[in-house]
Formats: sequence, structure tokens, C-alpha cells
Amino acid sequence: MASRGVASYRTEVWSDWCPGCGDFGILAAMQKAFAELNLDPATTVVVSGIGCSSKTPHFLNVNGVHTLHGRGIAFATGIKLANPNLTVVINGGDGDLLGIGVAHFVALGRRNLDVTVIIHNNQVYGLTKGQASPTLRKGEQVKSLPVPNLQDAVNPIALAIASGYTFVARAYSLWVDHLKEILKAAISHKGSAVIDVLQPCITYNDIYTAEFYKDRLYKLEDDPEWDPVVRDPGEEEEKKATALKKAEEWGTRIPVGVFYVNPLKDTYEDRLAKRNPAYSRENPPAFQSIYSEGSSLVGPEEFRKLFDRFIVKVSRR
Ligand code: SF4
Repeated sequence: MASRGVASYRTEVWSDWCPGCGDFGILAAMQKAFAELNLDPATTVVVSGIGCSSKTPHFLNVNGVHTLHGRGIAFATGIKLANPNLTVVINGGDGDLLGIGVAHFVALGRRNLDVTVIIHNNQVYGLTKGQASPTLRKGEQVKSLPVPNLQDAVNPIALAIASGYTFVARAYSLWVDHLKEILKAAISHKGSAVIDVLQPCITYNDIYTAEFYKDRLYKLEDDPEWDPVVRDPGEEEEKKATALKKAEEWGTRIPVGVFYVNPLKDTYEDRLAKRNPAYSRENPPAFQSIYSEGSSLVGPEEFRKLFDRFIVKVSRR
């Protein structure tokens, strides 16, 4: 298959993100990663919830589904199960995925469905004027808050490991090439993958700025001893414990990179296929016809017609 350039993953849709927003770095890293993996736009789906970050599917020339607040993972689960041959990526903010959508976030880790979650973590609800999100620490007061935050923060890395994700990483939106490499590894991993991407919101968050991150971030892989991969089932608990300890580090030094990888666990799709022989990659539900008593046969073409009015086609840039 001929390789596609980065430009082929761009669209002409105008972006209303604030100039300088960290979302641009995540978008650029996705376009580069998709190009280097040579993903087929016809079999790639980017799903989002609601928020600034959830506009991402509009700017990528692959299939995109912009859904409801906190429900990106739920929609993506249905899409992946209907056709496990698709590459599915979910974009959402820390508020969307770890607030209203947190039950779906935990459920995805338990299932180990083969999809990739990208958390645009800017510690605020940017789209609705900067309220404290689940990743803002207690006592912190970004400029959009009248008083300091009253609640403790969720640690996305710790929650992902506790939930069962088998690829857990953190990246920084302004280190585009580093994020791109982690994205490629996450998409190539067989199982639920999550990347917590630290993303400055220049409009509402005056604490976690590019200046804040500049001297604090360091790469886990720079330590030659760092080895997050489980190579034997007996190593799982120890690797998880090491990753959880590292996830607590947040101060003068903040680690980014891959915290934990377990390639030994089977995916939800594989478990489902073992349980139900009618479920297979060769003949996935998306290509099967549905029959209900008293009605005629409904196949993929009828579904395509049914959903046609919800499909927006955008042109490539
Ligand atoms: Fe980005 Fe914040 Fe502007 Fe939203 S409000 S587009 S997160 S800078």
C-alpha cells in the first residue's frame, strides 16, 4: 500500500481553538503518527465527547464521531465491537473522560478492548470558561476560579493502572515528536491504551503553563534502568507497583513517557470470540444482516442509508 503523507490526514475545517492552545500539538502529533503508521482513513475512527479537545475529529481526515459529554469511550466501544478490524482512537478532556465519563474510563480498562484513549489534560473545563476539572489539585486557584479548588485531584496514571489498562503513558503536548512516538506505540499495542497528555490551556490555566512544565518535565526512558514492559505474568504486580510509585511524582520533577505495558493479556474482542464462535474478525457484526420477526432483512446498505443524513463529509486540506 502506498504511504500517505501527513497532509493527507488534514481537513479544511477551521479551528476555533485559542492561538497557542496545547491541543494543536496533540493534533499535529496525531497527524504525524497516523502518517507514519500509514493508517487507512477508511478503517480509522476518531471518537470524542464534548469539550475543546473533542473538536479534534473535525480536523483529521479519517472517520470521526463527535458524540455526547463523557460518552466518547461508550460510542468507541460499540464501534470497535461492531468491527474489531478498525483502528479506534478516543480524544477527550480530563473533565470529559475523568469527570462525567469516568465510569466508562474504568470499564474500558477492565475490558482491555483494543482502542487508544488520549486525555487532553489541562486541569480545567476550557470550553465552559475554566472551572476546576478532576485533575486540578486541591487548594489550587487558576485565574478562572474565584476561590481555590476544594476537591482532591484524580491521578490519571494511577486510575488507569488500577482499572486494568495494559498500556499507560504520559506525554506533553508541546513535545510533538515525543508524543507522536508514544501514540504510535499505543495504537500498535493490542489492548486498552491511554496517554495522559499534559496540555497547557493558555486562556484559563495560569498555573500549568508552558513555563511551569519547561524545567520540570523529564523522560522516563532517559533512565537506562527504566523498563515498564511485563514480559512474564509473574512480573505484573511488581511493574504495576513501580509505575504507581512513579505516578505519584509531581513537583520539581514530573515524569513523562511509558509507565506500564502488559502485552500478555488477551483483548476483550478475543475473549468474546472465544465465548461466541459467531463473533469473528472475518465476519464482524458490522457486515452481518439483522432480522427481526415480522420485518425484512436489514443489512449494511440499509444502515448506511439510515445514517446517511448524520454523515458530514469534509474536504482534505
Ligand atoms: Fe485551548 Fe483553553 Fe482555549 Fe480551550 S479554552 S481552546 S483548552 S486554550
